[in-house]
Amino acid sequence: MLSEKEIKKCAREAGFDRCGVAPSRPLEEHRSRFTEWLRGGFSSTLTYLERNVEKRLDPSRLVAGAQSVIVCAVSYRNAISGGYPEGWNGPKIASYACARDYHDVIRGMLLEMFERLRAAEPTLRGRVFVDTAPVLEKAWAVEAGLGWIGRNSLLVVPGLGSFVLLGELIVDSEVDRYDQPYCGTGCGSCWRCVESCPAGAIRPDRTLDTSRCISRLTIERGDPEPEQLHGWIFGCDACQSVCPYNRSAPDHRSSRFDPVYDPRQIDRTDWAAFSEEEFDSRFGATPLARAGLERMKKACGGENKKGKIL
Ligand code: SF4
Ligand code: SF4
Repeated sequence: MLSEKEIKKCAREAGFDRCGVAPSRPLEEHRSRFTEWLRGGFSSTLTYLERNVEKRLDPSRLVAGAQSVIVCAVSYRNAISGGYPEGWNGPKIASYACARDYHDVIRGMLLEMFERLRAAEPTLRGRVFVDTAPVLEKAWAVEAGLGWIGRNSLLVVPGLGSFVLLGELIVDSEVDRYDQPYCGTGCGSCWRCVESCPAGAIRPDRTLDTSRCISRLTIERGDPEPEQLHGWIFGCDACQSVCPYNRSAPDHRSSRFDPVYDPRQIDRTDWAAFSEEEFDSRFGATPLARAGLERMKKACGGENKKGKIL
């Protein structure tokens, strides 16, 4: 049996700001909401969400004999997270994309934790998950007591806000003490995220219409026109920058999430002039590499390879 105290100590030492532990179980109560959202077409081009619904709901389909779900959160809040200056007319990039791609960073942090837990319990089996596998990570974060799902569908962690990244460790061992699920929400009468979304993408049931959400449009497949993006060329922080919990949150603590460039120093002319080599050398380690230079130029309203003037 794993010790809850030891798990949280390992999480802290690996660089996470929060860690919670929940007993593994099928999240049946999420089935109808999730399938109705899919049926409503709100996943748009994110067709991978339609696959593996059973795996998404039941951790034991991902890890044989799953007993516990360990959810870890780390803040990436930085100088860009507060939003761009009033009247800003340049291209905008979401604040998480100013640092190194979090997938490898968080995977490394979780693997470090896993190895330490295995040193204490050598028969421990499990898997680490970062955003790319079918895990209902925000629902598990609520189960593990980390916070609530805000109106913009993002997890809000008391004391940290929503500029957080999540990673999970699903293991086949019980834990000596589990956290209680987070009850209720702290949104109260606040609707700032809904009111500030330039695309009208936030639905009344705390889900998103991904066919409208700028963050999805700039990152996932599809070919959005610059007019749909309201100045954002990668990701979108509009519904987070206004959240009162983010305004009072501290900046990130772990140097792993230090920004590696400042998007406020790069204007449309710079983007239009970048060569592939310059793009790789400046942004190759960041999430922008997933989009690629041509897509960034198009989002800026520049000229793409096909010579289309936008
Ligand atoms: S990320 Fe941007 S477009 Fe998407 S819901 Fe938030 S504010 Fe709206
Ligand atoms: S902006 Fe307001 S409604 Fe939206 S998540 Fe934050 S507290 Fe909740």
